[in-house]
Amino acid sequence: MPFHYKTFHNKEDLISHLKAHTPSFYYSSKTSTVIPYDKLTEMLPIPEGVSDFYLCDLTKIPGHMELKENGNLVLTGAVSWQEAQQFLTSKGRNLKTSPTEHLALITAGVATSCTGERCFAFGNLRHQIVSLKYLNYNGEEKTLHRNDDFKSDSRSLKKYQDDFSAYQNFKNAPYPRFEKATDLMIGTEGQLGLVTEVEIETTDDFDVNHVFMLLPRWEENYESHMEVFNAVQFHRDSIISCELLDSNCMNYLKPDEKLGENQDVIFLEIKAVDFEKIYEEVLLNFKTISSEQVFEIGKNKFHHVRAGVPRAIFEVNSQMGVVKMGTDVQVSADHFTDLLNFYREASKVGVRYCLFGHFGDSHLHYNYMPTKDQSAPCQEAFLKLYANVLKWHGSPFAEHGIGLLKQKFIKKFHSEDQTALFKDLKKEYDPYNQFFPQGFMLMK
Ligand SMILES: Cc1cc2nc3c(=O)[nH]c(=O)nc-3n(C[C@H](O)[C@H](O)[C@H](O)COP(=O)(O)OP(=O)(O)OC[C@H]3O[C@@H](n4cnc5c(N)ncnc54)[C@H](O)[C@@H]3O)c2cc1C
Repeated sequence: MPFHYKTFHNKEDLISHLKAHTPSFYYSSKTSTVIPYDKLTEMLPIPEGVSDFYLCDLTKIPGHMELKENGNLVLTGAVSWQEAQQFLTSKGRNLKTSPTEHLALITAGVATSCTGERCFAFGNLRHQIVSLKYLNYNGEEKTLHRNDDFKSDSRSLKKYQDDFSAYQNFKNAPYPRFEKATDLMIGTEGQLGLVTEVEIETTDDFDVNHVFMLLPRWEENYESHMEVFNAVQFHRDSIISCELLDSNCMNYLKPDEKLGENQDVIFLEIKAVDFEKIYEEVLLNFKTISSEQVFEIGKNKFHHVRAGVPRAIFEVNSQMGVVKMGTDVQVSADHFTDLLNFYREASKVGVRYCLFGHFGDSHLHYNYMPTKDQSAPCQEAFLKLYANVLKWHGSPFAEHGIGLLKQKFIKKFHSEDQTALFKDLKKEYDPYNQFFPQGFMLMK
């Protein structure tokens, strides 16, 4: 049995492990949807010539947080988004973004370049990271600053960066950015080192009003949805997030949590100081949505319902013994109706499904809920989808990353420019191939 489990309780033990250069997979809260944690030892191929492979738990390394005078949060060790949010709100500050799954760790969130609902107003995580520290292959702690440029001797860097420019406006591209020094650890999924400390921007903890709108099912008519989509684009300073749960999602909520009667729901988080303005200028002016379709909802219920759906879907798929079959596609606004039309066709395959996500950013998660013998048509639909996303110059995995499960789909999005730089960076930063050797940077 080549797998060994190790839990680190302090940084010193982790450093000793790194110095031994043993090939390992390091994990934090194990909420990644692209790593099949319950089947890891079956699905993680052991590299040739490796007799001992370590699965390493980083969640027991003590966490620490400090709020700087300039409002930036500095955290080290195992700190979850939930803990950071509690710490910040006690000091009148708040996070600018966080994944819907608040139990994930922030250091891991850097590794996955995670995003969240509030990206709609505040942009993505990589812009919010001021500096970070990481442990390299010799267990040495290095510091990276976002004001420094990304440096590499690789001849492929310039071409790679030129290719990336087409994806600047996406939350995440089909490959990491590699423009600022901090990008070395952002979205590289633990393949080049381990993130140990992060300095991240925060915002005032302003009051927020939450509203939701009940709309027709998108499968039949998405005219109202598009009216909301177009209207919110001009109010990103006042509207913090714009999220969708379709009518099918309601089946995953308890009876008293369900909203609407076989209707889709779009939520808006609106800054309280701007609420009146948005109410009058946006909410009362829809042509296809009457004011009777707009409701206020409490903050706790909003978060509970919004987070409840992806969690329930994750659990239902695990219970049915199928690996999650969901998408993470973001397209430009120009292609948003193409994406909705594609999902409309996909919904006719005869497999249970639901659609939810970051509607205002044209970034939705379409989830099939197949039984064990219904996987084939879903795979086929997803292959067609990714061929279209490539054609539309969209981003196939804009927030959850590649991990192990999306490798077969991402290959077509990587050309020689990307794979050559990945190889050079692995040689430079992981010469013993000890950091997640099965990751996308060296995939065959
Ligand atoms: C219900 C649900 C909702 C979700 N919503 C969102 C969302 O809104 N946005 C979003 O982006 N994601 C979301 N996710 C996915 C997931 O929460 C994120 O990918 C998260 O960043 C993973 O954090 P984790 O602590 O669970 O990391 P893990 O799953 O433990 O690890 C994820 C990856 O990071 C690497 N890693 C872990 N720690 C480190 C470290 N210290 N240094 C270097 N590499 C490391 C691991 O090797 C692995 O490749 C959701 C997941 C679920 C189940």
